[in-house]
Amino acid sequence: MPIENPFPDLSAPSDSTLVGPLTGTLRDIGAVIWNNAGENIPRDLHWDIIALTLIISTLIWFKRKGNGSKGADGRARNSGLLGYLFPKDIYTHPSARVDLWLWITERAVKPFFAIGLLVAIGPGTEKTLITLLEFLFGPSPAYTPNYSWMLLYSLFTLLCYDFVFFLTHYTMHKVPALWAIHKVHHSAEVLTPLTRSREHFLAVPIWAAGGAFSYGFAAGIFAYLFNGNIVAATLLNIGFFSLLFGFNGSFRHFHVQFHYPVWLSKWLHSPVMHHVHHSYLEKHWDTNFAAVTSIWDRLFSTLYIPEKDEYTPWGIPPAKQFENRTYWQNTIGPFRDWYRMLSGNYSQSTETNSSENELKS
Ligand SMILES: [Zn+2]
Ligand SMILES: [Zn+2]
Repeated sequence: MPIENPFPDLSAPSDSTLVGPLTGTLRDIGAVIWNNAGENIPRDLHWDIIALTLIISTLIWFKRKGNGSKGADGRARNSGLLGYLFPKDIYTHPSARVDLWLWITERAVKPFFAIGLLVAIGPGTEKTLITLLEFLFGPSPAYTPNYSWMLLYSLFTLLCYDFVFFLTHYTMHKVPALWAIHKVHHSAEVLTPLTRSREHFLAVPIWAAGGAFSYGFAAGIFAYLFNGNIVAATLLNIGFFSLLFGFNGSFRHFHVQFHYPVWLSKWLHSPVMHHVHHSYLEKHWDTNFAAVTSIWDRLFSTLYIPEKDEYTPWGIPPAKQFENRTYWQNTIGPFRDWYRMLSGNYSQSTETNSSENELKS
C-alpha cells in the first residue's frame, strides 16, 4: 500500500502563541513542507520498523524451523536464516528494481500534490463540519477531555481513515479507468518493503485526498465536542496507532508470512492477508482492501483469511503481466489503457484471464 502514516501530527501540542493570519498561514505552509521533507523516508522504512520486521521474521524462522517465508514464485519454502531474511530471488528480481524507480518518482512528485491537498482538504473538511455541527446543535458543548476520550479520538480517526481507504481502494479495483492507475501497484511480481510505495504518480493525489478528508472529518467532530481542545492519545510519546500502522504497512509487503490467530484476523489485518490481495489467483481477486482493520472487509464480504502457507503468486494475471514489467511500461500504462478504452480496444476479460490463471496455479 502506498499511503503514509496517517497520524504524524495528531499528538503534537498546539502552539498557543497569537499570530496574525498571514504569518499563521505562511507558518502552516512552511510546517507542511518541512514535515513532507522530513517524511521523505516513510516511517515504515525507518531503522526501528525494519529492525522490528527482521526480529519478528527471525522469531517466525525459529518457531517454524526455517519454514514460513515465500519465494519469488509465491510458494512457501524452507531456508537458512540469511536466505530467509534476504532472499536473493526476490531482491534481484526485475520487479524489485522497478519498485525502487517507481518509489523515487513517487517521492519526487508527491510534495506537489500532497501539500496542496493536505492544506486544502483536511482543514477545509474540519472547518465545514464544525460549522455544520454548530448550525445543527448550537455552540460547542466544550467537554473536558481525558485519556479515554483521547483514546477514542485516536480510534475514531483510525476507523475513519480505514473506511475511506477501503472505499478508495475498492473503487480503484472496480472502475476500469482507475484500475489502470492502481494496476501499477499490483504489477509487482515480488513483495519488498518498497512495494508499499510502488504506485503510479497519478495515484498519489487520490490517496492523499482520501487521507486528508478522513483526518479532517474526525478532527471536525472532536474539535466541536471539545471546543478544539483535544489531541490524540500517545504511549511513550508515540501515537500507538501510528506505530501499528507503520509496522503493519511495512510487514504486509514482506515475503515472510506473519499470521495472526483467526479470531484476531477478523478484527485486524494480519500482514500475510495482504499477500492474498497481491495474488493473481481468481479466488483471491478483490479481497482484503482495508489498511489496518478487518471490519470494513467483513461488512462488505471481501475478507479473506488465508491458510498457513497458502500459495499466493504475486502480480497481475500472466496474460497481461508482460505489459507492466518495466518502469516505462508502468509509467505510461494508464495512458495506454485509457487510449484503448477510448478507442474501444480494451476488454476487462483480457485483464483477468482466468484460463491462464488455472494453468499457472
Ligand atoms: Zn500492496
Ligand atoms: Zn489493490
